[in-house]
Amino acid sequence: MDNGVLETCREKLQRQLDELMAGAERTVVDMTTVGEENFPDPTDRALLESNRNFTLRLRDRDRKLVAKIKEAMKRIDNGTFGVCEGCGGEIEEKRLIARPVTSLCIDCKTVAEEEEVK
Ligand SMILES: [Zn+2]
Repeated sequence: MDNGVLETCREKLQRQLDELMAGAERTVVDMTTVGEENFPDPTDRALLESNRNFTLRLRDRDRKLVAKIKEAMKRIDNGTFGVCEGCGGEIEEKRLIARPVTSLCIDCKTVAEEEEVK
């Protein structure tokens, strides 16, 4: 694997991680602020509830993404980055740069997606 590609991917992963962490902090602040406010109107309360559910979903998705990013960074460190988990072949560099968290080559990814649909 080309060192330049590795560095590009590592930088992208780090930036993504920083953004997610900043977002997680904002979410915590939002939830604390909302909790202190009083909503006597039922419509406002319903809106507040749906907002809170949305925030929780978002955090769950973000948590998964954070885990994926950390795994990818580990793969960079131990030298297995860019190796497909499905077939053991090399993942295309263009694909890695576009989406560094990926752990499957395009062929295996296509198969995985087809099986998800079934
Ligand atoms: Zn593969």
